[in-house]
Amino acid sequence: MSELSFKNKVVVVTGAGGGLGRVYAIEYAKRGASVVVNDLGGSLSGSGSNARAADVVVDEIKNKFNGIAVANYDSVSDNGENIIKTAIDNFGSIDILINNAGILRDVSFAKMSPKEFGIVIDVHLNGAYKLTKAAWPYMKKQKFGRIINTASPAGLFGNFGQANYSAAKLGLVGFSETLAKEGYKYNIMVNSIAPLARSRMTENVLPPHILKQLGPEKIAPLVLYLTHDSTKVTNSIFELAAGFYGRIRWERSSGQIFNPNEKYFTPEAILNKWSQITDFQDKTFNKTQHPYQLSDYNDLTTKAKRL
Ligand code: NAD
Repeated sequence: MSELSFKNKVVVVTGAGGGLGRVYAIEYAKRGASVVVNDLGGSLSGSGSNARAADVVVDEIKNKFNGIAVANYDSVSDNGENIIKTAIDNFGSIDILINNAGILRDVSFAKMSPKEFGIVIDVHLNGAYKLTKAAWPYMKKQKFGRIINTASPAGLFGNFGQANYSAAKLGLVGFSETLAKEGYKYNIMVNSIAPLARSRMTENVLPPHILKQLGPEKIAPLVLYLTHDSTKVTNSIFELAAGFYGRIRWERSSGQIFNPNEKYFTPEAILNKWSQITDFQDKTFNKTQHPYQLSDYNDLTTKAKRL
């Protein structure tokens, strides 16, 4: 099997001073990429800053792996565009963007302050937006781009105490799905990942025997695969942890078509047909696209008229 090389590729990894981002940055550098190691170096809740976090990883890449890397200490949400500028100024392009930086402000919704909600949305969602917005014109022009947005199982399924975080994380999925559609003709592939890994985010919430299995090095292979220039996968969500890699998709129930005659559009009609509306057994119309993109949409309307 030939090695997936990243030689001549310029990669930006946000939040790469620790946890998952550090592993990605090192893996890309080991495979020949020039890497911008961004990290604000703040606390888990997003307060403070420290240049050391990014510097340590850059030193490790240069000294231990003889790789190419430069540090950036900007906050993704305040100066995200500067991080892309660091890539352009130092390496002349931006090919691969890993939106990974993140913080937590976990608290039950009843007690969550507007600030606790806003700052988490800001770092995860607006941070990813700022970098992507700055990178997009370069990717479009060079007809190559690979973007990974870091979602979370908490975003896909919800999690107690994380209304802010799950809103931001599922927001990133919608963001990715639209960019995947807009970027495809320019060879810009955009995917979301929902990882579970050992890091300071999880070390106090999961038991040690589980944490042992969740090495962040088990997440990196899929991220590298998805961002290689030979990979055309886009518009997808992947869930991964402890060596498991799987794809997530939306699923529509078979649903119920109502007679277009207005008199049937009543709550009582819904009540009557609730089990059919929510039935996932019949796979006939179990498509994941928007209904107006279904090739059998005409078939659906014909059926409706017959009811
Ligand atoms: P981590 O705390 O080790 O890494 C996050 C990094 O982002 C930190 O080094 C931090 O300094 C940096 N950062 C925070 N705010 C920043 C900002 N404004 N600008 C630049 N850098 C900033 O945690 P991790 O587990 O490695 O998390 C990486 C990503 O994966 C996050 O987006 C997180 O939400 C996501 N995630 C992690 C898990 C998990 O199980 N660890 C699960 C789901 C999602």
